[in-house]
Amino acid sequence: MATEPVATEVGRDFIRDVIQADLDQGRYKEIVTRFPPEPNGYLHIGHAKSIALNFGIAQEFAGRCHLRFDDTNPVREEQEYIDSIQADVRWLGFDWDKNLFYASDYFERLYDWAEGLIRAGLAYVDDQTQEEIRASRGTLTEPGKNSPFRDRSVEENLDLFRRMKAGEFPNGARVLRAKIDMASPNINLRDPVMYRILHAHHPRTGDKWCIYPSYDYAHGQSDAIEGITHSICTLEFEDHRPLYDWFIEKLPVPSKPHQYEFARLNLTYTLLSKRVLTLLVRDGHVAGWDDPRMPTIAGMRRRGVPPAALREFIKRIGVAKANSVVDVGMLEFCIREELNRTSQRRMAVLRPLKVVIENYPEGQVEELEAINHPDDPTAGTRKIAFGREIFIERDDFMENPPKKFFRLSPGNEVRLRYAYFVKCTGVIKNDAGEVVELRCTYDPATKGGNAPDGRKVKATMHWLPAAQSVPAEVRIYNQLFSNPSPDAANFAADLNPQSLEMLPDARLEPSVAESSATEPMQFERQGYFVRDKDSSPGRPVFIRTIGLRDTFAREVAKG
Ligand code: ATP
Ligand code: MG
Repeated sequence: MATEPVATEVGRDFIRDVIQADLDQGRYKEIVTRFPPEPNGYLHIGHAKSIALNFGIAQEFAGRCHLRFDDTNPVREEQEYIDSIQADVRWLGFDWDKNLFYASDYFERLYDWAEGLIRAGLAYVDDQTQEEIRASRGTLTEPGKNSPFRDRSVEENLDLFRRMKAGEFPNGARVLRAKIDMASPNINLRDPVMYRILHAHHPRTGDKWCIYPSYDYAHGQSDAIEGITHSICTLEFEDHRPLYDWFIEKLPVPSKPHQYEFARLNLTYTLLSKRVLTLLVRDGHVAGWDDPRMPTIAGMRRRGVPPAALREFIKRIGVAKANSVVDVGMLEFCIREELNRTSQRRMAVLRPLKVVIENYPEGQVEELEAINHPDDPTAGTRKIAFGREIFIERDDFMENPPKKFFRLSPGNEVRLRYAYFVKCTGVIKNDAGEVVELRCTYDPATKGGNAPDGRKVKATMHWLPAAQSVPAEVRIYNQLFSNPSPDAANFAADLNPQSLEMLPDARLEPSVAESSATEPMQFERQGYFVRDKDSSPGRPVFIRTIGLRDTFAREVAKG
């Protein structure tokens, strides 16, 4: 009986087409997918694509999606990663309900099935070293050579395999291999390794096992045990599919899943390889897995990227069968679009320059009204104090401006947002000749930012009152790599030396500094910012999620 898929806004792709056809032809009662991370690192945005695909399909076709930890290599796996992966999947907005599984739960059954293959003459214990096995595997143009141990008797194989399990041999002494075809044009079928000896403590099975199954042996059988219908993975496993099918055909598995492959996500200016990400953390190039420059889910969450923006990005890039590289600008577009809609506006001065308004009465403070969201009147308004001393952005002033500079300069008049027109009347410098303070006058008739005589100004600037604003540290994060296609083999050479800019003397509206909100806000004219966990009492730290416009590409082009 075909199940009616629930309506979906997500576009169709070849995998969803296959599933729809399977349902139409009554091949399955329920669609079951899985997301199978190896807990050897934090998830990155490439994994988010796989998560959205697998969990999204389960939602759209009223099926279910399992979260299965592929914990078959205890040397690289840790509980910290298991915990972070669960947190990240949830944060992305997906739910495995009761369907949380571990490949290690199946070790017993996998072992029994392996003995079954030995008895059927379809697996053997090989005493060759790893190097010998590699050397005799052949190449794309040459067949491999049979192992001298390939024709051991069933009894000898069973005995040796049991002794491998019992811990009689050191790491690497022997392996169990499937006996398929050393001359197969598909190298994956040239007697692939099923078990290796590894005397290592496993986070879940402890010291029970000292032999561990390979990915190829564990994966498909785990799918079959769980009743997965569509086992969706990335393209590099396409050549493994015949092996996946071989095990499913030869073993007494309870169901027959099928594997489908799609193109992995690649992004410009980004490396999505757990190996590289692990090294970035280990060698201190970043401050941890959740460093806001990391392409990890944890890094993006800390940076203030909304999960809805990630889901939208993944929806837009779609699912295809051909590898490609997506412009990181597309991700940034989705982040800006979501934040523009949802973030409240505030004013912040990142590099303050003090301004004294000489004709504003000493000691007077007035409250001006500022709007919280230009497109959303329900977001309301707030009050901002205005007084004789204010801060403006250092970059908004030039003593000797070029022709097209319309912001503040000696003699020039500008609008202070929500406040008044001001004109620069004097510049105060320190001994080094640097501008440290400005003198201005204001026009009391321009309250609210419009002149009754109709005169115009060419610039509107943000500002904050000196007394009624709060000091803060602001961190501006840029791309981690300055090369659009960083070299995974030599990534350190491609790191962007300007990936983090610290602004220790920024000023914020008091309500921003005091709020504990974890939602990003737009700092007008600057970008979207979010409170960081490094904040301490009296010392707020804000980090920039993203600027208002895509300036990076242009800066790089300028060099
Ligand atoms: P990496 O290549 O970064 O080390 P991995 O494939 O080893 O990642 P796993 O934990 O095995 O990491 O991946 C879990 C799932 O996520 C797999 O199904 C894998 O195909 C998928 N996946 C990994 N990277 C990407 C990517 N860049 N785009 C789409 N899916 C991915
Ligand atoms: Mg993998």
